[in-house]
Amino acid sequence: MAIAYLNGSLLPLEDAKIPVLDRGFLFGDGVYEVIPAYGRRLFRLNQHLKRLHNSLQAVNIPDPMSTEAWQNMLEKLVKQNDVDDQSIYLQVTRGVASKRDHAFDTTLKPTVFAMSTPLDTTESPGSVKGIAAITLDDIRWQHCHIKAITLLPNVLLRQQAIDAGAAEAILVRNGFATEGAASNLFVVNNSLLLTPPKGPLLLPGITRDLILELAVANAIPFREADIEASALATANEIWLTSSTREIMPVTTLDDAPVGTGQAGPVYKRMTALFQAYKSRLRADEDPLAGG
Ligand code: PMP
Repeated sequence: MAIAYLNGSLLPLEDAKIPVLDRGFLFGDGVYEVIPAYGRRLFRLNQHLKRLHNSLQAVNIPDPMSTEAWQNMLEKLVKQNDVDDQSIYLQVTRGVASKRDHAFDTTLKPTVFAMSTPLDTTESPGSVKGIAAITLDDIRWQHCHIKAITLLPNVLLRQQAIDAGAAEAILVRNGFATEGAASNLFVVNNSLLLTPPKGPLLLPGITRDLILELAVANAIPFREADIEASALATANEIWLTSSTREIMPVTTLDDAPVGTGQAGPVYKRMTALFQAYKSRLRADEDPLAGG
């Protein structure tokens, strides 16, 4: 039975209920995080909590817990759920108001919810088979660095990709490819790894940061630079990354093969480094030691 957390209590997921006047329900007024746990160890917890804090601050919701309290709660939740690898979803909404009104009362008590789902990374993410992606116009807002629960554009874009027989959409704004509908973008051109710089048009992905750290530690040449959408067609490799799907090689883009049409050598090297990092985390070793 899955155990969830709601406003101070651990309880069975099906017993977690919120009032309909919660602003998360009415307006999508809240922010979230998705944190993997491997071997019950939370992956890059400090970085996730920092991003959560930044998202809360950006939308003017007071952080309802100290870093230590978040840590304790999440560790307890992971312990209560009987699976080694888990994906922890947590969300904070602005809280329950007395009536529906766009403008908000800054004294509302935020609603805090977290749940665990089993995480199976053996099939999809590290898969060398590769995925198909399509490019789509980025219809989202100007604050994509905030991890807001208001995900309707992302939902529609992902569905459009699925309906086209692809696994993910790569989003294009003003002629530049920014990120996926729920992932960050990497391109390899002549052995140089490229990813768009952080800014308001993309989410600062935790997986993205780890890949850049692993690139530094292993002398893999990379650059943070804008990627013209037209350059995707000639890329040697394209990857999409996220906490739950890790590094996905895109082998077909808009129905055309990417590079050789197979997962490329830089992907294979990076995914091996990424898996080694996870193994060290599972074994409770310093994950960045030894590369
Ligand atoms: N961009 C978007 C729009 C996302 O939704 C996600 C995943 N939540 C990412 C990037 C990847 O971020 P992370 O590596 O932290 O999962």
